[in-house]
Amino acid sequence: MESINAIQPAHEDCPICGWDAATVFTQVHEKRCRRWKQAIADMNGYQPTPRPRVEVLIEELTQKLAAADDDVEAVKIAGALMRAHYDRSLGHAIDNGHYKDHPDYDAYASMLDLQGLPEGFRHLYPHQPGHIAPGFGFWEPADSKSRRLQFRAARH
Ligand SMILES: [Zn+2]
Repeated sequence: MESINAIQPAHEDCPICGWDAATVFTQVHEKRCRRWKQAIADMNGYQPTPRPRVEVLIEELTQKLAAADDDVEAVKIAGALMRAHYDRSLGHAIDNGHYKDHPDYDAYASMLDLQGLPEGFRHLYPHQPGHIAPGFGFWEPADSKSRRLQFRAARH
């Protein structure tokens, strides 16, 4: 049974887990948000930007990176873009209960095969293939079905 509040939308999406404002006062959101709060506490307060906001950020930064005037600017934008991808992947891991195994930012930045990364950025984070399939942004646990499916899809 949902509370009477279930019919009242909030003014904005949940700032913690990104849940849609229209159904913020529901038990299904409350349950999900509890998982996010626990994960954030376990990660010493690190709060990944949730979806859908992080998707918008990735879109904007991808366009900015393509339009960057010089390498210094490109490396700066690439860092922000990589952080957004990292947050999205980490959020996905929170939803799936794998966040404790998710690589840290430095490791993730080396694993992600992102098109258009400036050389200066790759120099800081040399590519480590085999962890995240080309064209994908989500880290999946090693030996998981999700990772196998990701690499199989990437080959086609
Ligand atoms: Zn929430």
